[in-house]
Amino acid sequence: MDSEAPQVEMCFFPYVGGGHQIPMIDIARLFASHGAKSTIIVTPTNALQFQNSILRDQNSGHPISIHALQLLDGAISPDSDMSATPSTDTTVLREPLELFLIEHKPDCIVFDMFHRWAAELFDGLGIRRIVFNGSGCFPRCVRESIRKYEPHEKVGSDYEPFLVPGLPDRIELTRSQLPVFIRDKSGSSDRMAKDEEKSFGAVVNSFYELEPAYADYFRKEMGKKAWLVGPASLCNKNATDKAERGKQADQSCLRWLDEKEPNSVLYISFGSKPSFAPGQFLEIAHALEASNYSFIWVVGKTFKDEERCLPGGFEERIKESKKGVIVRGWAPQLLILEHGAVGGFMTHCGWNSMLEGVCCGVPMITWPLSAEQFSNEKLVTDVLGFGVQVGSMEWMSFSSEKKALVVRAKVEVAVKRLMGGGDEVVEMRKRAKELVEKAKKAVQVGGSSYIDADALIEELKSSKKNGSRGMMVQPHQLMH
Ligand code: UDP
Repeated sequence: MDSEAPQVEMCFFPYVGGGHQIPMIDIARLFASHGAKSTIIVTPTNALQFQNSILRDQNSGHPISIHALQLLDGAISPDSDMSATPSTDTTVLREPLELFLIEHKPDCIVFDMFHRWAAELFDGLGIRRIVFNGSGCFPRCVRESIRKYEPHEKVGSDYEPFLVPGLPDRIELTRSQLPVFIRDKSGSSDRMAKDEEKSFGAVVNSFYELEPAYADYFRKEMGKKAWLVGPASLCNKNATDKAERGKQADQSCLRWLDEKEPNSVLYISFGSKPSFAPGQFLEIAHALEASNYSFIWVVGKTFKDEERCLPGGFEERIKESKKGVIVRGWAPQLLILEHGAVGGFMTHCGWNSMLEGVCCGVPMITWPLSAEQFSNEKLVTDVLGFGVQVGSMEWMSFSSEKKALVVRAKVEVAVKRLMGGGDEVVEMRKRAKELVEKAKKAVQVGGSSYIDADALIEELKSSKKNGSRGMMVQPHQLMH
Protein backbone atom coordinates (compact mmCIF):
# COMPACT_ATOMS: atom_id res chain seq x y z
CA MET A 1 0.00 0.00 0.00
CA ASP A 2 1.05 3.58 -0.65
CA SER A 3 1.91 5.14 2.73
CA GLU A 4 2.45 8.57 1.12
CA ALA A 5 -1.12 8.75 -0.11
CA PRO A 6 -3.65 10.65 2.00
CA GLN A 7 -6.28 8.71 3.93
CA VAL A 8 -9.35 7.97 1.87
CA GLU A 9 -12.68 9.27 3.18
CA MET A 10 -15.72 7.18 2.40
CA CYS A 11 -19.32 7.92 3.31
CA PHE A 12 -22.01 5.26 3.51
CA PHE A 13 -25.65 6.15 3.09
CA PRO A 14 -27.67 3.01 3.86
CA TYR A 15 -31.38 2.54 3.42
CA VAL A 16 -33.74 3.24 6.30
CA GLY A 17 -34.10 -0.28 7.64
CA GLY A 18 -34.24 -4.00 6.97
CA GLY A 19 -32.14 -6.22 4.81
CA HIS A 20 -30.45 -3.39 2.90
CA GLN A 21 -29.28 -1.44 5.90
CA ILE A 22 -27.70 -4.27 7.89
CA PRO A 23 -25.10 -5.31 5.28
CA MET A 24 -24.17 -1.72 4.44
CA ILE A 25 -23.30 -1.05 8.08
CA ASP A 26 -21.12 -4.16 7.97
CA ILE A 27 -19.52 -2.96 4.73
CA ALA A 28 -18.71 0.45 6.27
CA ARG A 29 -17.10 -1.36 9.20
CA LEU A 30 -15.18 -3.56 6.80
CA PHE A 31 -13.74 -0.58 4.89
CA ALA A 32 -12.79 1.08 8.19
CA SER A 33 -10.94 -2.11 9.15
CA HIS A 34 -8.98 -1.64 5.90
CA GLY A 35 -8.01 1.87 7.03
CA ALA A 36 -10.52 4.00 5.10
CA LYS A 37 -12.05 6.81 7.15
CA SER A 38 -15.68 5.69 7.11
CA THR A 39 -18.73 7.76 8.04
CA ILE A 40 -22.17 6.16 8.19
CA ILE A 41 -24.93 8.67 7.47
CA VAL A 42 -28.29 7.71 8.96
CA THR A 43 -31.42 9.00 10.65
CA PRO A 44 -31.20 9.47 14.43
CA THR A 45 -33.53 6.47 14.93
CA ASN A 46 -31.31 4.19 12.87
CA ALA A 47 -28.14 5.36 14.58
CA LEU A 48 -29.32 3.92 17.89
CA GLN A 49 -29.57 0.44 16.43
CA PHE A 50 -25.90 -0.09 15.71
CA GLN A 51 -24.02 2.56 17.67
CA ASN A 52 -22.64 -0.01 20.14
CA SER A 53 -20.86 -2.01 17.47
CA ILE A 54 -19.41 1.20 16.01
CA LEU A 55 -18.21 2.20 19.47
CA ARG A 56 -16.47 -1.15 19.83
CA ASP A 57 -14.79 -0.63 16.42
CA GLN A 58 -13.66 2.84 17.50
CA ASN A 59 -12.21 1.38 20.68
CA SER A 60 -10.26 -1.06 18.49
CA GLY A 61 -8.78 1.93 16.65
CA HIS A 62 -10.86 1.77 13.47
CA PRO A 63 -11.52 5.14 11.81
CA ILE A 64 -15.31 4.93 11.78
CA SER A 65 -18.10 7.23 12.92
CA ILE A 66 -21.83 7.82 12.59
CA HIS A 67 -23.40 11.02 11.38
CA ALA A 68 -27.08 11.27 12.38
CA LEU A 69 -28.92 13.61 10.00
CA GLN A 70 -30.86 16.37 11.73
CA LEU A 71 -34.21 16.59 9.99
CA LEU A 72 -35.78 19.95 9.34
CA ASP A 73 -38.39 21.15 11.83
CA GLY A 74 -41.65 19.23 11.47
CA ALA A 75 -40.19 16.62 9.09
CA ILE A 76 -41.10 13.03 9.88
CA SER A 77 -38.31 10.49 9.62
CA PRO A 78 -39.07 7.78 7.03
CA ASP A 79 -38.23 5.13 9.62
CA SER A 80 -40.23 6.67 12.47
CA ASP A 81 -42.64 3.72 12.68
CA MET A 82 -39.96 1.12 11.74
CA SER A 83 -42.01 -0.06 8.78
CA ALA A 84 -39.95 1.16 5.82
CA THR A 85 -40.35 -0.89 2.63
CA PRO A 86 -38.39 -0.59 -0.64
CA SER A 87 -40.87 2.03 -1.85
CA THR A 88 -40.67 4.28 1.22
CA ASP A 89 -39.97 7.87 0.17
CA THR A 90 -36.78 9.15 1.80
CA THR A 91 -36.56 12.58 0.13
CA VAL A 92 -36.96 14.23 3.53
CA LEU A 93 -33.30 13.28 4.10
CA ARG A 94 -32.09 15.17 1.04
CA GLU A 95 -31.59 18.62 2.52
CA PRO A 96 -29.75 17.63 5.70
CA LEU A 97 -27.61 15.24 3.66
CA GLU A 98 -26.72 17.96 1.18
CA LEU A 99 -25.69 20.29 4.01
CA PHE A 100 -23.46 17.60 5.47
CA LEU A 101 -21.82 16.74 2.15
CA ILE A 102 -21.11 20.36 1.26
CA GLU A 103 -19.12 20.63 4.48
CA HIS A 104 -17.42 17.22 4.35
CA LYS A 105 -16.76 16.35 0.76
CA PRO A 106 -15.76 12.66 0.91
CA ASP A 107 -13.80 10.79 -1.75
CA CYS A 108 -16.85 8.70 -2.49
CA ILE A 109 -20.27 7.88 -1.17
CA VAL A 110 -21.62 4.34 -1.17
CA PHE A 111 -25.40 4.71 -1.29
CA ASP A 112 -28.40 2.42 -1.38
CA MET A 113 -30.25 2.42 -4.68
CA PHE A 114 -33.59 2.75 -2.87
CA HIS A 115 -32.73 6.41 -2.20
CA ARG A 116 -34.01 7.13 -5.68
CA TRP A 117 -33.24 10.86 -5.58
CA ALA A 118 -29.71 10.59 -4.25
CA ALA A 119 -27.67 9.98 -7.45
CA GLU A 120 -28.71 13.35 -8.84
CA LEU A 121 -27.69 15.09 -5.61
CA PHE A 122 -24.23 13.47 -5.56
CA ASP A 123 -23.63 14.30 -9.23
CA GLY A 124 -24.65 17.90 -8.58
CA LEU A 125 -22.13 18.09 -5.74
CA GLY A 126 -19.44 16.33 -7.79
CA ILE A 127 -19.12 13.45 -5.35
CA ARG A 128 -18.14 10.07 -6.72
CA ARG A 129 -20.96 7.66 -6.08
CA ILE A 130 -20.85 3.90 -5.70
CA VAL A 131 -24.09 2.01 -5.73
CA PHE A 132 -25.18 -0.74 -3.36
CA ASN A 133 -28.22 -2.76 -4.32
CA GLY A 134 -28.24 -5.37 -1.58
CA SER A 135 -27.85 -8.46 -3.76
CA GLY A 136 -25.17 -10.37 -5.62
CA CYS A 137 -24.02 -10.84 -9.21
CA PHE A 138 -26.19 -13.86 -10.00
CA PRO A 139 -29.60 -12.16 -9.66
CA ARG A 140 -28.29 -9.15 -11.60
CA CYS A 141 -27.22 -11.40 -14.47
CA VAL A 142 -30.61 -13.13 -14.48
CA ARG A 143 -32.36 -9.76 -14.50
CA GLU A 144 -30.19 -8.49 -17.35
CA SER A 145 -30.79 -11.58 -19.48
CA ILE A 146 -34.55 -11.28 -18.98
CA ARG A 147 -34.47 -7.58 -19.81
CA LYS A 148 -32.46 -8.21 -22.95
CA TYR A 149 -34.10 -11.35 -24.36
CA GLU A 150 -37.60 -11.20 -22.81
CA PRO A 151 -37.92 -15.02 -22.67
CA HIS A 152 -41.06 -14.65 -20.53
CA GLU A 153 -42.85 -13.13 -23.53
CA LYS A 154 -42.40 -16.36 -25.46
CA VAL A 155 -44.21 -18.80 -23.14
CA GLY A 156 -47.87 -19.74 -23.33
CA SER A 157 -48.78 -19.31 -19.66
CA ASP A 158 -47.60 -17.80 -16.40
CA TYR A 159 -46.57 -21.25 -15.16
CA GLU A 160 -44.72 -22.60 -18.20
CA PRO A 161 -40.99 -22.60 -17.41
CA PHE A 162 -38.64 -20.67 -19.68
CA LEU A 163 -34.88 -20.81 -19.96
CA VAL A 164 -33.01 -17.66 -18.94
CA PRO A 165 -30.80 -17.28 -22.03
CA GLY A 166 -27.07 -16.76 -22.25
CA LEU A 167 -26.11 -17.63 -18.66
CA PRO A 168 -23.30 -19.99 -17.64
CA ASP A 169 -25.82 -22.47 -16.13
CA ARG A 170 -29.22 -23.74 -17.18
CA ILE A 171 -31.61 -21.54 -15.17
CA GLU A 172 -35.37 -21.83 -15.54
CA LEU A 173 -38.07 -19.55 -14.15
CA THR A 174 -41.76 -18.95 -14.80
CA ARG A 175 -43.51 -15.69 -15.55
CA SER A 176 -45.39 -15.99 -12.25
CA GLN A 177 -42.04 -15.81 -10.44
CA LEU A 178 -41.03 -12.50 -12.01
CA PRO A 179 -41.64 -9.14 -10.37
CA VAL A 180 -44.81 -7.47 -11.61
CA PHE A 181 -42.85 -4.49 -12.94
CA ILE A 182 -40.97 -6.80 -15.30
CA ARG A 183 -44.11 -8.66 -16.35
CA ASP A 184 -46.15 -5.55 -17.12
CA LYS A 185 -43.12 -3.49 -18.25
CA SER A 186 -44.08 -0.68 -15.89
CA GLY A 187 -40.32 -0.19 -15.43
CA SER A 188 -40.39 1.15 -11.88
CA SER A 189 -36.83 -0.07 -11.50
CA ASP A 190 -35.51 1.49 -14.72
CA ARG A 191 -34.49 4.60 -12.89
CA MET A 192 -32.47 2.56 -10.41
CA ALA A 193 -30.82 0.59 -13.22
CA LYS A 194 -29.79 3.88 -14.85
CA ASP A 195 -28.39 5.16 -11.56
CA GLU A 196 -26.30 2.02 -11.33
CA GLU A 197 -25.09 2.38 -14.90
CA LYS A 198 -23.80 5.91 -14.43
CA SER A 199 -22.17 5.32 -11.06
CA PHE A 200 -18.46 4.81 -10.46
CA GLY A 201 -19.22 1.18 -9.81
CA ALA A 202 -20.97 -1.18 -7.44
CA VAL A 203 -19.96 -2.51 -4.07
CA VAL A 204 -21.37 -6.03 -3.85
CA ASN A 205 -22.00 -8.10 -0.73
CA SER A 206 -20.72 -11.32 -2.22
CA PHE A 207 -17.42 -13.12 -2.78
CA TYR A 208 -15.90 -14.28 -6.02
CA GLU A 209 -15.77 -17.98 -5.13
CA LEU A 210 -19.53 -18.06 -4.48
CA GLU A 211 -20.47 -17.09 -8.01
CA PRO A 212 -17.30 -16.89 -10.15
CA ALA A 213 -19.01 -17.33 -13.52
CA TYR A 214 -21.58 -14.65 -12.65
CA ALA A 215 -19.04 -12.20 -11.22
CA ASP A 216 -17.18 -12.55 -14.53
CA TYR A 217 -20.41 -12.18 -16.51
CA PHE A 218 -21.37 -9.11 -14.51
CA ARG A 219 -18.02 -7.47 -15.07
CA LYS A 220 -17.23 -8.60 -18.63
CA GLU A 221 -20.56 -9.24 -20.39
CA MET A 222 -22.47 -6.50 -18.62
CA GLY A 223 -19.46 -4.18 -18.43
CA LYS A 224 -19.94 -3.29 -14.77
CA LYS A 225 -17.26 -2.16 -12.41
CA ALA A 226 -17.81 -4.12 -9.22
CA TRP A 227 -15.97 -4.74 -5.97
CA LEU A 228 -17.08 -7.97 -4.31
CA VAL A 229 -16.17 -7.39 -0.66
CA GLY A 230 -18.33 -9.87 1.27
CA PRO A 231 -19.66 -11.82 2.97
CA ALA A 232 -20.18 -8.64 4.97
CA SER A 233 -21.63 -10.48 7.98
CA LEU A 234 -18.19 -12.02 8.65
CA CYS A 235 -16.97 -8.67 9.99
CA ASN A 236 -19.04 -9.50 13.11
CA LYS A 237 -16.36 -11.44 14.90
CA ASN A 238 -17.48 -11.54 18.51
CA ALA A 239 -20.74 -12.84 20.00
CA THR A 240 -21.86 -9.37 21.13
CA ASP A 241 -21.59 -7.95 17.61
CA LYS A 242 -23.51 -10.93 16.26
CA ALA A 243 -26.19 -10.74 18.97
CA GLU A 244 -26.77 -7.02 18.48
CA ARG A 245 -26.69 -6.99 14.67
CA GLY A 246 -29.79 -5.31 13.28
CA LYS A 247 -31.72 -5.12 16.54
CA GLN A 248 -31.42 -6.40 20.08
CA ALA A 249 -32.33 -10.07 19.90
CA ASP A 250 -33.82 -12.46 22.43
CA GLN A 251 -31.04 -14.97 23.20
CA SER A 252 -33.13 -17.61 24.96
CA CYS A 253 -33.47 -19.77 21.85
CA LEU A 254 -29.67 -20.29 21.92
CA ARG A 255 -29.89 -21.99 25.31
CA TRP A 256 -32.68 -24.17 23.94
CA LEU A 257 -30.42 -25.09 20.99
CA ASP A 258 -27.64 -26.15 23.38
CA GLU A 259 -29.80 -29.10 24.44
CA LYS A 260 -30.25 -30.38 20.90
CA GLU A 261 -28.33 -32.95 18.83
CA PRO A 262 -26.07 -31.77 15.98
CA ASN A 263 -27.93 -30.95 12.74
CA SER A 264 -31.29 -31.79 14.31
CA VAL A 265 -33.02 -28.38 14.26
CA LEU A 266 -34.64 -26.54 11.37
CA TYR A 267 -34.32 -22.74 11.56
CA ILE A 268 -37.22 -20.94 9.87
CA SER A 269 -37.09 -17.25 9.03
CA PHE A 270 -38.48 -15.13 6.23
CA GLY A 271 -36.34 -12.03 6.70
CA SER A 272 -36.62 -8.72 8.46
CA LYS A 273 -40.28 -8.19 7.54
CA PRO A 274 -42.06 -11.51 7.10
CA SER A 275 -45.15 -10.97 5.01
CA PHE A 276 -47.58 -13.85 4.68
CA ALA A 277 -51.31 -14.39 4.58
CA PRO A 278 -52.43 -15.64 8.05
CA GLY A 279 -53.40 -18.93 6.41
CA GLN A 280 -49.77 -19.58 5.53
CA PHE A 281 -48.75 -19.76 9.18
CA LEU A 282 -51.38 -22.44 9.67
CA GLU A 283 -49.99 -24.49 6.77
CA ILE A 284 -46.44 -24.23 8.12
CA ALA A 285 -47.52 -25.18 11.65
CA HIS A 286 -49.38 -28.27 10.45
CA ALA A 287 -46.42 -29.32 8.31
CA LEU A 288 -44.02 -28.91 11.23
CA GLU A 289 -46.14 -31.05 13.54
CA ALA A 290 -46.59 -33.71 10.87
CA SER A 291 -42.88 -33.91 10.02
CA ASN A 292 -41.91 -33.95 13.70
CA TYR A 293 -38.45 -32.32 13.49
CA SER A 294 -37.28 -29.73 16.03
CA PHE A 295 -37.45 -26.12 14.89
CA ILE A 296 -36.96 -22.44 15.70
CA TRP A 297 -39.53 -20.38 13.85
CA VAL A 298 -39.17 -16.60 13.65
CA VAL A 299 -42.64 -15.23 13.08
CA GLY A 300 -41.66 -11.60 13.62
CA LYS A 301 -43.83 -8.85 14.97
CA THR A 302 -46.32 -8.95 12.10
CA PHE A 303 -47.86 -12.00 13.69
CA LYS A 304 -51.28 -10.67 14.60
CA ASP A 305 -54.60 -12.37 15.06
CA GLU A 306 -52.91 -15.46 16.46
CA GLU A 307 -56.12 -17.43 16.89
CA ARG A 308 -56.43 -17.67 13.13
CA CYS A 309 -52.76 -18.25 12.49
CA LEU A 310 -51.87 -21.36 14.46
CA PRO A 311 -53.67 -24.64 15.12
CA GLY A 312 -55.32 -24.78 18.58
CA GLY A 313 -52.86 -25.78 21.32
CA PHE A 314 -49.88 -25.72 18.92
CA GLU A 315 -47.63 -23.64 21.11
CA GLU A 316 -48.42 -25.58 24.28
CA ARG A 317 -47.68 -28.86 22.51
CA ILE A 318 -44.32 -27.79 21.06
CA LYS A 319 -43.29 -26.33 24.39
CA GLU A 320 -44.16 -29.46 26.33
CA SER A 321 -42.51 -31.81 23.82
CA LYS A 322 -39.53 -29.40 23.50
CA LYS A 323 -39.96 -29.72 19.74
CA GLY A 324 -40.02 -26.08 18.87
CA VAL A 325 -39.49 -22.44 19.76
CA ILE A 326 -41.39 -19.50 18.31
CA VAL A 327 -39.55 -16.17 18.18
CA ARG A 328 -41.90 -13.20 18.06
CA GLY A 329 -39.36 -10.41 17.86
CA TRP A 330 -35.87 -10.30 16.38
CA ALA A 331 -33.83 -13.50 16.30
CA PRO A 332 -30.01 -13.60 16.66
CA GLN A 333 -29.76 -15.08 13.18
CA LEU A 334 -25.98 -15.27 12.88
CA LEU A 335 -25.67 -17.05 16.24
CA ILE A 336 -28.48 -19.46 15.42
CA LEU A 337 -27.11 -20.37 12.00
CA GLU A 338 -23.62 -21.05 13.33
CA HIS A 339 -24.92 -23.27 16.15
CA GLY A 340 -24.03 -26.92 15.56
CA ALA A 341 -27.58 -28.07 16.36
CA VAL A 342 -28.99 -26.27 13.33
CA GLY A 343 -29.13 -28.60 10.36
CA GLY A 344 -31.42 -26.76 7.97
CA PHE A 345 -32.60 -23.25 7.14
CA MET A 346 -36.04 -22.58 5.71
CA THR A 347 -35.52 -19.16 4.11
CA HIS A 348 -37.25 -16.65 1.86
CA CYS A 349 -33.91 -16.40 0.01
CA GLY A 350 -33.23 -12.78 0.90
CA TRP A 351 -29.66 -12.21 -0.29
CA ASN A 352 -28.32 -11.65 3.24
CA SER A 353 -30.00 -14.69 4.71
CA MET A 354 -28.84 -16.81 1.82
CA LEU A 355 -25.25 -15.60 2.25
CA GLU A 356 -25.39 -16.07 6.03
CA GLY A 357 -26.61 -19.64 5.50
CA VAL A 358 -23.69 -20.17 3.10
CA CYS A 359 -21.19 -18.83 5.67
CA CYS A 360 -22.43 -21.35 8.23
CA GLY A 361 -22.67 -24.29 5.82
CA VAL A 362 -26.38 -24.87 6.43
CA PRO A 363 -28.42 -26.46 3.60
CA MET A 364 -31.67 -24.67 2.84
CA ILE A 365 -35.34 -25.10 2.11
CA THR A 366 -35.92 -22.28 -0.35
CA TRP A 367 -39.16 -20.33 -0.18
CA PRO A 368 -38.83 -17.14 -2.25
CA LEU A 369 -41.53 -14.50 -1.95
CA SER A 370 -40.55 -11.19 -3.49
CA ALA A 371 -37.72 -8.90 -4.74
CA GLU A 372 -34.97 -10.93 -6.49
CA GLN A 373 -35.53 -13.93 -4.23
CA PHE A 374 -36.71 -16.30 -6.98
CA SER A 375 -33.35 -15.84 -8.71
CA ASN A 376 -31.49 -16.37 -5.44
CA GLU A 377 -33.37 -19.63 -5.00
CA LYS A 378 -31.95 -20.90 -8.30
CA LEU A 379 -28.44 -20.02 -7.21
CA VAL A 380 -28.85 -22.11 -4.05
CA THR A 381 -30.62 -25.10 -5.59
CA ASP A 382 -29.45 -25.27 -9.22
CA VAL A 383 -25.95 -23.76 -9.11
CA LEU A 384 -24.59 -24.37 -5.60
CA GLY A 385 -26.60 -27.54 -5.06
CA PHE A 386 -27.54 -27.33 -1.40
CA GLY A 387 -31.18 -26.42 -1.34
CA VAL A 388 -34.59 -28.03 -1.59
CA GLN A 389 -37.33 -25.96 -3.20
CA VAL A 390 -40.59 -25.78 -1.26
CA GLY A 391 -42.41 -24.99 -4.51
CA SER A 392 -43.14 -21.28 -4.22
CA MET A 393 -44.54 -20.06 -7.57
CA GLU A 394 -45.91 -16.54 -7.10
CA TRP A 395 -43.89 -13.36 -6.83
CA MET A 396 -45.66 -10.96 -4.44
CA SER A 397 -45.02 -7.32 -3.77
CA PHE A 398 -44.39 -6.29 -0.15
CA SER A 399 -47.60 -4.30 -0.03
CA SER A 400 -49.86 -6.71 -1.92
CA GLU A 401 -52.85 -8.00 0.02
CA LYS A 402 -53.15 -11.03 -2.22
CA LYS A 403 -50.75 -13.63 -0.90
CA ALA A 404 -50.45 -17.06 -2.46
CA LEU A 405 -50.21 -20.11 -0.22
CA VAL A 406 -47.89 -23.08 -0.30
CA VAL A 407 -49.96 -25.96 1.02
CA ARG A 408 -48.91 -27.97 4.09
CA ALA A 409 -48.22 -31.17 2.13
CA LYS A 410 -45.55 -29.44 0.06
CA VAL A 411 -43.97 -27.92 3.15
CA GLU A 412 -43.93 -31.28 4.90
CA VAL A 413 -42.26 -33.00 1.94
CA ALA A 414 -39.52 -30.36 1.82
CA VAL A 415 -38.90 -30.52 5.59
CA LYS A 416 -38.68 -34.31 5.60
CA ARG A 417 -36.39 -34.31 2.57
CA LEU A 418 -33.92 -31.84 4.08
CA MET A 419 -34.02 -32.91 7.73
CA GLY A 420 -34.26 -36.64 6.96
CA GLY A 421 -30.50 -36.73 6.33
CA GLY A 422 -30.39 -39.16 3.37
CA ASP A 423 -27.45 -39.44 0.93
CA GLU A 424 -28.68 -36.41 -1.00
CA VAL A 425 -28.51 -34.27 2.14
CA VAL A 426 -25.10 -35.63 3.13
CA GLU A 427 -23.83 -34.46 -0.28
CA MET A 428 -25.51 -31.07 0.22
CA ARG A 429 -23.84 -30.63 3.59
CA LYS A 430 -20.49 -31.51 2.06
CA ARG A 431 -20.89 -28.91 -0.68
CA ALA A 432 -22.10 -26.33 1.81
CA LYS A 433 -19.14 -26.91 4.14
CA GLU A 434 -16.66 -26.49 1.29
CA LEU A 435 -18.07 -23.06 0.61
CA VAL A 436 -17.76 -22.02 4.29
CA GLU A 437 -13.99 -22.30 4.04
CA LYS A 438 -13.97 -20.31 0.80
CA ALA A 439 -16.12 -17.58 2.35
CA LYS A 440 -13.82 -17.25 5.35
CA LYS A 441 -10.71 -17.18 3.16
CA ALA A 442 -12.23 -14.50 0.90
CA VAL A 443 -12.27 -11.90 3.69
CA GLN A 444 -8.87 -12.78 5.15
CA VAL A 445 -5.67 -10.98 4.15
CA GLY A 446 -4.92 -12.01 0.56
CA GLY A 447 -8.45 -13.34 -0.06
CA SER A 448 -10.52 -12.23 -3.05
CA SER A 449 -12.83 -9.89 -1.10
CA TYR A 450 -9.94 -8.48 0.91
CA ILE A 451 -8.12 -7.68 -2.32
CA ASP A 452 -11.24 -6.09 -3.86
CA ALA A 453 -11.78 -3.82 -0.83
CA ASP A 454 -8.14 -2.74 -0.93
CA ALA A 455 -8.36 -2.21 -4.69
CA LEU A 456 -11.23 0.26 -4.29
CA ILE A 457 -9.37 2.14 -1.55
CA GLU A 458 -6.24 2.29 -3.70
CA GLU A 459 -8.22 3.55 -6.66
CA LEU A 460 -9.76 6.29 -4.56
CA LYS A 461 -6.34 7.15 -3.16
CA SER A 462 -4.72 7.50 -6.53
CA SER A 463 -7.50 9.67 -7.93
CA LYS A 464 -7.30 11.78 -4.78
CA LYS A 465 -3.59 12.26 -5.42
CA ASN A 466 -4.32 13.20 -9.02
CA GLY A 467 -6.96 15.61 -7.80
CA SER A 468 -9.84 14.02 -9.70
CA ARG A 469 -13.24 13.71 -8.02
CA GLY A 470 -16.77 13.05 -9.01
CA MET A 471 -17.97 10.91 -11.88
CA MET A 472 -15.45 9.11 -13.99
CA VAL A 473 -15.71 7.45 -17.38
CA GLN A 474 -16.49 3.75 -16.97
CA PRO A 475 -14.57 0.98 -18.69
CA HIS A 476 -17.79 -0.19 -20.35
CA GLN A 477 -18.54 3.34 -21.60
CA LEU A 478 -15.15 3.38 -23.31
CA MET A 479 -16.01 0.17 -25.12
CA HIS A 480 -18.94 1.77 -26.99
N1 UDP B 1 -32.44 -10.83 10.61
C1 UDP B 1 -32.08 -11.10 11.93
N2 UDP B 1 -33.06 -11.49 12.80
C2 UDP B 1 -34.36 -11.64 12.43
C3 UDP B 1 -34.71 -11.39 11.08
C4 UDP B 1 -33.72 -11.00 10.20
O1 UDP B 1 -30.92 -10.98 12.30
O2 UDP B 1 -35.19 -12.00 13.27
C5 UDP B 1 -31.40 -10.35 9.68
C6 UDP B 1 -30.78 -11.45 8.85
O3 UDP B 1 -29.68 -12.01 9.52
C7 UDP B 1 -30.40 -10.69 7.58
C8 UDP B 1 -31.42 -9.59 7.49
O4 UDP B 1 -32.01 -9.46 8.76
O5 UDP B 1 -29.12 -10.13 7.72
C9 UDP B 1 -32.51 -9.89 6.47
O6 UDP B 1 -32.01 -9.67 5.20
P1 UDP B 1 -32.47 -10.54 3.95
O7 UDP B 1 -31.76 -10.00 2.75
O8 UDP B 1 -32.28 -11.97 4.21
O9 UDP B 1 -34.03 -10.32 3.85
P2 UDP B 1 -34.96 -9.01 3.81
O10 UDP B 1 -35.30 -8.68 5.21
O11 UDP B 1 -34.19 -7.93 3.11
O12 UDP B 1 -36.13 -9.48 3.03
